[in-house]
Amino acid sequence: MQKYLVIGDPIGHSRSPGMQNAAFRACGLGEPYGIRRITPEELPEFFEFARKNLCGVNLTVPHKIHAAELADELTPRAAQCGSVNTLIIKDNVILGDSTDGVGLERALTYNFKTSLAGKKILFCGAGGAARATAVHLAQCGTTEVSFINRTLSKAEELAALCQKIVPELICRCTTPDNENSARELLANADFLIQATSLGLKPEDPPPLPLEWFSANMKLKIFDTIYHQTPLQKYAGTMNIACAGGKEMLIQQGAESFTCWTGIPAPLDAMRDGFDHGSPGK
Ligand code: NAP
Repeated sequence: MQKYLVIGDPIGHSRSPGMQNAAFRACGLGEPYGIRRITPEELPEFFEFARKNLCGVNLTVPHKIHAAELADELTPRAAQCGSVNTLIIKDNVILGDSTDGVGLERALTYNFKTSLAGKKILFCGAGGAARATAVHLAQCGTTEVSFINRTLSKAEELAALCQKIVPELICRCTTPDNENSARELLANADFLIQATSLGLKPEDPPPLPLEWFSANMKLKIFDTIYHQTPLQKYAGTMNIACAGGKEMLIQQGAESFTCWTGIPAPLDAMRDGFDHGSPGK
């Protein structure tokens, strides 16, 4: 009987079953993790099913905000960002948690072998992924968390949220159309977090003009997209340190696994499950 599920709409592409079942197997706990397409309309009914039948759930697009409203209780980190990607279910109580922020923090330190203390972070994008992670990075000893986003109001809203939580943080916002200020933010940043959906489709333009990136930049690029995008390829040719989104998915899933089981996540098994695991049923 499957006691854990990943849900979303669409969901067929998810690597979570391969990755999570690899973790459960490595700990001698079988393969209890499945996958189910749940539409936004079905989410409230799914919560009642989960309450009675499941121990844990991962949620992806488009459920993370609605799930924060439906959960019985929220962890402080989920309440701060208003986003839920993990349900922990015990004694008929559904606790909503958000492991995306810590997942990104650990992916950055794993990929670039450096701490975030004193660093300047620049997000390109201000959608759900940026929202779920920026608030966490703001609390990692960083000195600046800024945003370049097509829709300025969304960037400003997110910057205000970060600054409310960490008043001394520097938070600046601009749009890609505003070339001077966007390039100034790029030149100043230690990390660029590519958190737009541009790059998911082969015909997408790069999130920022590639000619804005040069070999002598101190910037390290983390692209939340798993597969190689034109931005990642270009960074490689320019010798700019760059990583794709795989480790973020692994680390957020590892944190969910530990929240459910109390066991430290077997990260190498999860990385192998990400690469070679088969989708769940
Ligand atoms: P979302 O809420 O739909 O936000 C999309 C973002 O992309 C917004 O900032 C949006 O700007 C921007 N955007 C979309 N189309 C654009 C265009 N044509 N031109 C300029 N900007 C555009 O999506 P999300 O959930 O945040 O996901 C964003 C990315 O994060 C996706 O690529 C997803 O694969 C990735 N992700 C990765 C992980 C991981 O574990 N690695 C986890 C979650 C998400 P506006 O605000 O102007 O609309």
